[in-house]
Amino acid sequence: MLKGFGGRQLRINLSTGEIRTSPLDPTFARKWLGGRGFVAKILYDEVPRNADPFGPENRLVVTPGVFSGNFGPSGSKCSFGAVSPLSNGEGDSTVGGHFGPELKFAGYDLIVFQGISPKPVYLFIDDDRVELRDASAYWGQGTMETEAALKRDLGEDFEIAAVGPAAENRVVFACIGHDYGRQAGRCGVGAVMGGKRLKAIAVRGTRSTPLHDLPTLKELTLRIIKRTAQHPNMAPWQKYGTAMFVGWSNEHGVYPTHNFQTTYFDRYAGIDGGPLVERILVTNKACFGCWMNCGKYSKVQIEGKDTVYVEGPEYETGSLCGGNCGFDQIEQVAYVNWLCDTVGIDTMTGGNIIAFAMECYEKGLITREQLEGHELRWGNLEDVEHFIRMVVERRGIGEYFARGYQAAAAYIGGGAERYTCQVKGQGMSGYDGRGAPAMLLAYMTADIGAHHNRAWTITMDEDLGKDVIRGKAKVVVHLQHIRPLFDTISSCRLFWGEIDVTDQEHIDAIKLMTGWDDFTLEEAMRLSERIWNLNRAHFLERNGGPGRKFDYPNARFYEEAVPSGPAKGARLTLADLDVMLDEYYAARGWGLDGNPSREVLEDLGLEDVATNLERAGLLGQLSAPLPPVRGEKYKPKAF
Ligand code: SF4
Repeated sequence: MLKGFGGRQLRINLSTGEIRTSPLDPTFARKWLGGRGFVAKILYDEVPRNADPFGPENRLVVTPGVFSGNFGPSGSKCSFGAVSPLSNGEGDSTVGGHFGPELKFAGYDLIVFQGISPKPVYLFIDDDRVELRDASAYWGQGTMETEAALKRDLGEDFEIAAVGPAAENRVVFACIGHDYGRQAGRCGVGAVMGGKRLKAIAVRGTRSTPLHDLPTLKELTLRIIKRTAQHPNMAPWQKYGTAMFVGWSNEHGVYPTHNFQTTYFDRYAGIDGGPLVERILVTNKACFGCWMNCGKYSKVQIEGKDTVYVEGPEYETGSLCGGNCGFDQIEQVAYVNWLCDTVGIDTMTGGNIIAFAMECYEKGLITREQLEGHELRWGNLEDVEHFIRMVVERRGIGEYFARGYQAAAAYIGGGAERYTCQVKGQGMSGYDGRGAPAMLLAYMTADIGAHHNRAWTITMDEDLGKDVIRGKAKVVVHLQHIRPLFDTISSCRLFWGEIDVTDQEHIDAIKLMTGWDDFTLEEAMRLSERIWNLNRAHFLERNGGPGRKFDYPNARFYEEAVPSGPAKGARLTLADLDVMLDEYYAARGWGLDGNPSREVLEDLGLEDVATNLERAGLLGQLSAPLPPVRGEKYKPKAF
C-alpha cells in the first residue's frame, strides 16, 4: 500500500461529464512526488504542442504532494497547473490554507480536468462521492462570495477553491481563490479553470492518510516545533507576516516604485507592517499544520466604500499594489488587495499591469477617452477601481490588458513594451533586480517567468556584492532546485527559508510518511532538476527556440539606472545580462543558445525528451563539460 498519499486519482472530462477514479501508480508517485512534479509530467505528456491554453486539450491539474495533510512541518499546500496563457509554457501555482489537506483526507492526490463544460459546473467531492454539479447560481460571483455560498449550501466543513468573474472572462492573469483570501495566483491557472467553465471545487474528506511511522514522525515534528519556537525570526513573522518586508525592501533599494521606475518609495511608512498591525488587523491566520501564522486578516474601512475584509496585504501585494501603483496608505492597498481577490486576479501580475497602465497614462500613451473619461493617476483608488473593472469586463482598452502584456503593448504602441515589467508574460515579483543582479537572473531564467518563488537571492546579492555579476549563476541554479522542491512536496518553503527547518528534516519526514528508507536529499534535488529541464523542454517545444531569446526582461532593466534611493545609480547592461546567462547555461549543462543538451537530459533520465528536442531542432550543444552537480549550494540569509 502506498503510504503518505491518498492513493487515488480522478480524471474528469468536462466536455462529456465523464468521471473516472483510479489508483495512483506508486512508481509515478515516487518518481514525481506530487505538486509541481505531477503537473510538469502530466502537461508534458498530455497536452499537444499546438493546443491553445484555452482549448479543450489543455489540462487543469490539481495536486497536493506527499506532505499535504500529514503531520509534518506545514503540509498545507496544493498545486494547480496548466499550460499557461501568460507564457504558453508549463504553469503552476500553489495555494496554502486547507484545500490540499482536505483533498488528501478524501483520498485523492491528483485531479486532472480536460475538455470544456457546455455550462458552468463545480466539482463536488465528498469522500467517494464525486459529481459535476450545476454552478449557474454561482456564475458571476466573486471568489469569496462563491466560497461563502458553497459553504452555506453544502456545509462549513467543505473546503472550496473558486474562481471569480476575471477567470470566467478569461483574463489571462486570473487566479484561483481559497480560504477567503489565499490564492493560486500565478501563471493564469484561474483563467484556464474559468475557461473550462469550472467555477469551483468543493471537497470534504473524512479518511486518514496511511503513514509509515507516525510515532517517529510525531517526535520529529514536535522537536522541530519546540526548536523553531525560539528562533529569532518567529516573533516578527507571527506579528507582521511578510508585510514587514515593505520597509526592508525600501531600505535595501529593491522596492518597486511607480512601475519599477525607481526602487525606493519615500512614503512607504504608511503601508509597512506597522500600520497593517496597528490600523487594520483583525486577527492572524494560519494554513493547515502551521505554527508561524503569517496570514493577516484585515478589516478595511474607507469613507464612501463598503467595509471589506481581506487576508493581507502580504508583501508582494504591499509592493506591487502599493508603492508600485503609488499608494501610500495601508487601507488603500488593502482595498486594492480585496478588489483583486474578489474579481479573482493575481495581485502580482495584476499590480504590475495596473502600474504599467499608469505609466502609459503618465506618459500620454493612454488617453482619458480610452479610459471612458476616467484618469489613471498614481495612488488614486477611484481610477484603479474603474480600470480593474474595465479589464475584468474586457471593456474598451481593458480588452487588451485582459489579454496580457504583449497584446496591451502592441495596442498602445509608442514603445510601451519598455514599461512591461515582466519575463515570459509573467509580471515581476516585488523586487527590482538592478541592485540585485542574481535576482534579475532568477526572474529571467525561471521556467514560469518572473517569479521570486523559484529563487530569491537578495541577501546573497548583498553578501557577494550588489554590483557583482560573475559567479552568482550557479547559486541561482541551486536555489531554483531547492526552493521549488517545497512546491513538489507541498510544504511551506518559509519553514526552510525563515526559521531553519533543514532540508534533511524535510527528507526525514518524507521517509517517515512513505517508508521510502532509501530516499535521499540527492534524489529530491535531482527530481527538482528533472522537473526544471522538463519544463524548459516543454516551453521550447511549444514556443520554438533558441531558449535564450525568451530570457530577457524589458529594456528598463538593462538600459536605465535606478534614479533614487539607496540603490541610486545601480545599472546593468545587456552585456552584463549576457555574461550571467552564459554562466547560467554552462552551470545547467545547456547550450549557449539556452537549449538543454542531450547530455544533461540523459543524465536526468529524460532520453525521450532529448529525442523530442532533437527532432524539433531544439537540442543545445554543451558549451562546457557537464558539471556532475548542477548548481552550488547556498542558503541565503533570511531578512
Ligand atoms: Fe501558510 Fe504563512 Fe504558515 Fe506558510 S508560514 S504555512 S504561508 S501561514
